[in-house]
Amino acid sequence: MYAIQAQDVSKTYKNGVRALDHVSLNVRKGEIFSLLGQNGAGKSTLIRILTTYLKPDLGLVQILGKNLSMKAARIRPKIACVGQQTSIDTYLSLEENMMFQSRLYRIPKTQAKLRMEKLIQDFGLQSYRKYPVSSYSGGIKRRLDIALNMMSAPEILFLDEPTVGMDIQSRMAMWDMLKKIRNDFGTTIFLTTHYLEEADILSNTVCIMKDGKEVTQGTPEELRSFIRQDALRILFPTKAEAEKQMVFLQSVFPASQMTVRNTDIMMNTEDVRSDLERTAGFLLEAHIPFYGIQIVQPTLEDVFLRLTKKKEMGEEK
Ligand code: ADP
Repeated sequence: MYAIQAQDVSKTYKNGVRALDHVSLNVRKGEIFSLLGQNGAGKSTLIRILTTYLKPDLGLVQILGKNLSMKAARIRPKIACVGQQTSIDTYLSLEENMMFQSRLYRIPKTQAKLRMEKLIQDFGLQSYRKYPVSSYSGGIKRRLDIALNMMSAPEILFLDEPTVGMDIQSRMAMWDMLKKIRNDFGTTIFLTTHYLEEADILSNTVCIMKDGKEVTQGTPEELRSFIRQDALRILFPTKAEAEKQMVFLQSVFPASQMTVRNTDIMMNTEDVRSDLERTAGFLLEAHIPFYGIQIVQPTLEDVFLRLTKKKEMGEEK
């Protein structure tokens, strides 16, 4: 059963920017679905459409089995959206915010109090309940905002870049919270991110977008297997040296796809062991200065670069 089904969704803004170009995706109930893409890919536009803030020009969207264009008012109470701007009132405490939210959703007071206690306990927010939200750090505020949005017990929680700008501790605390929401509350989570690591660690399904189109959709494992299991990383002292040597290496290994990342050459190979030997032999014989060669597992960044490069070259997925 799907929580979200979007088919051929397109949106062009009044200024002529085509933010979405026939995007299709399916989100299963109870999963964490990450929409991954660089700035301007169209992620926020899609989230605005799925949360009923914006109408698409074209396409069919079903949320929890209901047609979005016809049943928006029925869908709204079942979803919650945490944007990049917090919706929480920072002058009020977490408890005050939660009780206020429960009145908006017409939740009876005793039920609201029980729900509030459960959320505060489950998310370990006991120490943040009484003081104004403004007194806490950005990362804590974001988590309080999510807890607040869970007061209405949404079936789908939309999160637009939930960890943008956070330090690693805050991001890990956020990941724990999101996993708990999926595992213990059964809520479907739809999030946007431009952090590959985040999509990899958190998601059941990842959809990669570029220029308003989806490039591919699958599990993090499927996406990694998409570009062969291993790659070679050849370490150089400088980026300029890596770029220079890539031209030579490419002439020796014309079939291998190579990119320079920082001061390294990343090389996809069919047969990593024999290519490791051949590359090392070639570099040593030619007296090319290099720091080392490693066999590495591809990251989602490799998947992204590979897939987007293929698309740009007009190849099939
Ligand atoms: P992302 O969230 O992936 O960064 P957006 O959906 O915000 O992408 O933007 C997609 C494209 O649409 C970008 O080129 C952006 O400049 C443009 N865009 C976004 N919002 C508007 C708007 N309100 N009016 C005009 N263009 C917009």
